[in-house]
Amino acid sequence: MNKKIGFIGCGKMAQAMIGGLIESNVIDKHQIYVSARSNETLVKVKDLYNVHTLNSNIDLAMQVDYLFLAVKPDLYPTIIEEIKEVISNNTVIITIAAGITLEGVEKSFGKEVKIVRTMPNTPSLVREGMSALCHNQVVTNEELNEVMEIFNSFGKCELVNEKLMDAVPAVSGSSPAYVYLMIEALADGAVLQGIQRDQAYKLAAQAVLGAAKMVLETELHPGELKDQVCTPGGATIEAIAELEKKGFRSSIISAMERCTEKSVSLG
Ligand code: NAD
Repeated sequence: MNKKIGFIGCGKMAQAMIGGLIESNVIDKHQIYVSARSNETLVKVKDLYNVHTLNSNIDLAMQVDYLFLAVKPDLYPTIIEEIKEVISNNTVIITIAAGITLEGVEKSFGKEVKIVRTMPNTPSLVREGMSALCHNQVVTNEELNEVMEIFNSFGKCELVNEKLMDAVPAVSGSSPAYVYLMIEALADGAVLQGIQRDQAYKLAAQAVLGAAKMVLETELHPGELKDQVCTPGGATIEAIAELEKKGFRSSIISAMERCTEKSVSLG
């Protein structure tokens, strides 16, 4: 792709995307531009990825084709205020923040701008990201295809109706954190039963990776895959019964509801 991609803000999420993007070879690192508040971050990003680093958000916004706003949601109004005068009609703005709507961004710019609202996740760093996207009317098909090419370079992406974008953080944006909690718990359980900790993390993480791949690749219902592991009267169904007794599913579902409420309130 022969385009310039910029990131205003270069924290955990932007670095995950940059790492995945460079690894994929979809674009060259010299096509990536980054600005951040702290010089320390810029030096670190330069060392890690050898991309262009700039101190000025305005200078960055003026020269890129695709511009990620990779700051916390509460900083969106400030950043947009800073760059709105210099943004060209052809620049595609990519938002990644929970709760930030297309309409809200349009209003902040106060003029017609091309916007793609997205919700990525940090496994983008290892090119196993999952992102959801929606866009406003002025984004062309060609631009949308390029944005999807960018997101597909570090994982998978799905187009979602904007009405459902608020539900995405709970299921894929934030859910890696719940899974890490589960991997940690699995490892603690293994250590409790005498397995070495480093081996416990490998056993737990690979089991989670394998289970996720089974869902994606066999396309069988997760319940059917679960049934395949549960021998009648066996050890797995014993564990499942205990998880059900402790409200495993319902605690995940209610955690997701809390996540969505909070995400909406951040915008
Ligand atoms: P972070 O705190 O790690 O990074 C924020 C970055 O913004 C930092 O590099 C900081 O220096 C920079 N910044 C702050 N003020 C700035 C300014 N005035 N100009 C330029 N840069 C400035 O946060 P993060 O976790 O990377 O999250 C960034 C966005 O990504 C948030 O909106 C969040 O909702 C979204 N997001 C994060 C994740 C995740 O797993 N971390 C997942 C999906 C979406």
